Amino acid sequence: TKLTKSWQQNYVDDWVKFYSKHTKEGELASYIPLLKQADKNHLGISIMGINGVTIESGDVGIPFTIQSISKVFTFIVACMERGVSYVLNRVDVEPTGEAFNSIMHLEMKKLKKPFNPFVNAGAITVTSLLNGKTSDEKLEPLFRLLEDILKYRPVLNVDIFKSESETSVRNRAIGYYLVETGYLESKLELTLETYFKQCSIEISLQDLAHLGMILANDGEDPKTQIEIIPRQVARLAKSLMLTCGMYDASGKFAAYVGIPAKSGVSGGIVAVAPPRARHEDLPFLEGCGIGVYGPALDKQGNSIAGIKLLRHIAKQWDLSIF
Ligand code: GLU
Repeated sequence: TKLTKSWQQNYVDDWVKFYSKHTKEGELASYIPLLKQADKNHLGISIMGINGVTIESGDVGIPFTIQSISKVFTFIVACMERGVSYVLNRVDVEPTGEAFNSIMHLEMKKLKKPFNPFVNAGAITVTSLLNGKTSDEKLEPLFRLLEDILKYRPVLNVDIFKSESETSVRNRAIGYYLVETGYLESKLELTLETYFKQCSIEISLQDLAHLGMILANDGEDPKTQIEIIPRQVARLAKSLMLTCGMYDASGKFAAYVGIPAKSGVSGGIVAVAPPRARHEDLPFLEGCGIGVYGPALDKQGNSIAGIKLLRHIAKQWDLSIF
């Protein structure tokens, strides 16, 4: 059966309405004080197909900070600047099964190398590898990459940046530990300032869908056919999203949703549905990026209604890569 866009739009509208009820079950992140100002009831989705078709529904107009989703893109930038093997010599590619800001797992390996680039220890290490003497210099290539994809230059939410830098004792603890292990390549204060800034970049749901769509297309912009991210790096990033992207619920997300995704504590999730032969009669689904926003989080720190919505869509449209 062929579905027209309006059918799909109707479905998505219904599903968003249905899953909006579940926002009540979650909590806003509070360890970054300013994140508490978000509206717990919000839920929105934006889908962008490689073929240019888009669908959006729910609370789509609310800007939010990228938070941990930035880790995917600093990892990509570090691989592009320093080479994949250089980066992977300093950060492993294994899931932890622990919380994203866990300190406990840091001592668990002989080499004490952070487990993966998406837990805070690994992300802070990756940020230290970025070239540059100031945080703005270090982040310039990240902003350029985002601009190449999004066609505009996102800006920092300075209030969220300050709110995190003033309060983040746990990330400092992780940082001091990393100094001891010798994996940090820039001074701790500079590294943390850069890390807090990258987390405070403000984006929209449409941006998330767009970022996901480029990854679904292995790093190439389908309109211009320009390779924005090297294919090998895009694939590596997706494999890490699948195994480590949803904090300590990554296994469940892979099992029940089955597509690479990365969440952040402000309630955003970027998900990547690669093209699949079986979707030939559903042209919209020849690969797409999906952005979800719902700031009420579950215990692992993932958008509670966002995950339920993604799970439903993945099932209905048979998106699982397995
Ligand atoms: N800036 C946040 C932190 O480092 C990001 C965490 C997240 O989104 O998971 O704690």
